[in-house]
Amino acid sequence: MNFDILWLDRLDSYVKDRSMNQIFRLKNSLPLQVAIAIVGVWAISLWKCVQIRLDTLQPIWFIALFIWQTWIYTGLFIIAHDAMHGSIYPSPRVNRAIGQFCLWFYAGFDYPQLCAKHHQHHKYPASDRDPDFHNGQTKHFWGWFGHFVSEHITWRQVITIISMFAAGVAICHYFFPQPLWWQAVNLACFWVFPSLMSSLQLFYFGTFLPHREPVGGYIEPHRAETIPRSRWWSLISCYHFGYHRKHHESPQIPWWQLYE
Ligand SMILES: [Zn+2]
Ligand SMILES: [Zn+2]
Repeated sequence: MNFDILWLDRLDSYVKDRSMNQIFRLKNSLPLQVAIAIVGVWAISLWKCVQIRLDTLQPIWFIALFIWQTWIYTGLFIIAHDAMHGSIYPSPRVNRAIGQFCLWFYAGFDYPQLCAKHHQHHKYPASDRDPDFHNGQTKHFWGWFGHFVSEHITWRQVITIISMFAAGVAICHYFFPQPLWWQAVNLACFWVFPSLMSSLQLFYFGTFLPHREPVGGYIEPHRAETIPRSRWWSLISCYHFGYHRKHHESPQIPWWQLYE
């Protein structure tokens, strides 16, 4: 009898441990699932977009698709950014693989190089040692953006983008029976230009607004502001990246938990 009770107790605790373990694992893999979902939506969306006949598309639909592609490209960068902070999966290899994949398709970035620069930004925010900060003279939007781009763009990246674009045109031409120039225009409209627009979106909501000097001066040590806005606008504007002080305080929090 005693033996039976002991055995049942053990079985009960085994089942509890197992289910707790499964819940823990599931919770742990949630950022990975979110990352895969964003990358999946981006891939399907691009694949569908390159098949569109632009001459049959109404201007309003073209604008809507262009805005959507810009937003989903921003999502691709946000996933790479989470990977830089090791927030996607408790394995540096997985974070690095996902981060590099996203940055290649975002704009041919080299992950280790951008990762090092981003950590420098976190270490010396809004200072002359911060690669994302303005040069101390031109603090207005376009001047700062120009300096920001010059700090991050490399010749290697430009060559990577051109090569990827040429490969993309060839692949699309292989799968869809349309002229090469047609595929080139489609890829430019739904990959190159949305990705460029997305860099403006990321810069404006994730660098310019949160890191420009407030009227009362910077608040140390993060020198970053949070831009208060509603949950939906925060998501639409830049995947909650406007909650920037919180991001600097706790960089390991994934983007979808910044609002909470
Ligand atoms: Zn920042
Ligand atoms: Zn960061």
